[in-house]
Amino acid sequence: MSETKLPAPETIAASHGIATDGAYGAVAPPLYLSTTYTFEGFEQPRTYDYGRGGNPNRDMLGEALAKLEGGAGAVITSSGMAALDLLLGQLTREDHVIVPHDCYGGTLRLVNERAARRQFRASIVDQSDDAALGAALAQGAALVLIESPSNPLMRVVDIAKITAQVRAAGARSVVDNTFLSPALQQPIALGADYVLHSTTKYLNGHSDVIGGALIAADAADAAANRAWANTTGLSGAPFDSWLTLRGLRTLFPRIERASRTAGLIAAWLETQPDVRAVYYPGLASHPGHALAGRQQRGFGAMMSFELEGGREAVRRFVEAVGAFTLAESLGGVESLVSHPATMTHASMGPEARAIAGISDGLLRLSIGLEHQDDLIAGLEQGLKA
Ligand SMILES: *Cc1c(COP(=O)(O)O)cnc(C)c1O
Repeated sequence: MSETKLPAPETIAASHGIATDGAYGAVAPPLYLSTTYTFEGFEQPRTYDYGRGGNPNRDMLGEALAKLEGGAGAVITSSGMAALDLLLGQLTREDHVIVPHDCYGGTLRLVNERAARRQFRASIVDQSDDAALGAALAQGAALVLIESPSNPLMRVVDIAKITAQVRAAGARSVVDNTFLSPALQQPIALGADYVLHSTTKYLNGHSDVIGGALIAADAADAAANRAWANTTGLSGAPFDSWLTLRGLRTLFPRIERASRTAGLIAAWLETQPDVRAVYYPGLASHPGHALAGRQQRGFGAMMSFELEGGREAVRRFVEAVGAFTLAESLGGVESLVSHPATMTHASMGPEARAIAGISDGLLRLSIGLEHQDDLIAGLEQGLKA
């Protein structure tokens, strides 16, 4: 058999699984809710036997994501945290996990809680500091989590450099690619062993499914993850996978449009006197601008900014802002504003927030698909207050 070249990623997103229904020729993939499958005969199972271990909708989404990320296989889980836990649960007491100091708050909580139960050892490291990462790796490490751009300060780290350092130390790397999606960044091509997604965000894109995915670069790792998902029952629901694949169809146009609008808004925010700082990798003023330009295919649609006047100014801003909804999460068609210190990063505690540089005046924006003029008008309303 000759190797066929994969279609372009836009084509994979739009068409994976389309018109593959053998029963009725349905163009949109049918939804298989059944928990169990008939055996063809004694000792003759079919492709699927029981829904925890495998489901056609989950597999269809997993195949699409594995192709988009350039991986060998994917496991679809019930949430982004479940995808991370799929890896963490396979570690042993002797293992050492390294996470970035400015990772997603829920990630830090999960790693800390498991480490507190002595399920492995964990270190929190500023990965932009080569020496600090080198020292942590020198203690012997099993798994290193990388997040770029980080949440909420949009710090960019050199993924290829870190994965090479991790590999040389005999450890595995996992990149949380939730903020950019494979449309804008492909960590496996940058040397990662695993890619993690909260599909809740850009991949589904419509703020109506909680889900996750763990993609492995290597086929044996993908099979081990799949077996572990069956063992632990972390697998995602079929309907969630069906919805997420539907959302994935429009990933590229959504993220391209939202990123363009985000660039305009970041540039506008930077000119506002009540805004102390804007964190967006697409701005020339951002310290990670050049690196993001090299390792990403676009700057994305997430940003944060610092208001003059701290928490009280934040309260007045969010009460007056238009067009944006005050809510956690990101990556949906609607624009959201959140206050990391009291929302997404509240569970970190004030000390960890201070170390990560998350002040009380910081606000995070997820730019959606509304017109830029309406979004800017809404922000103006908030800043006037
Ligand atoms: C939301 C998020 C997660 C967690 O995903 P859930 O689907 O909420 O469990 C992990 N990492 C990042 C960067 C996120 O934004």
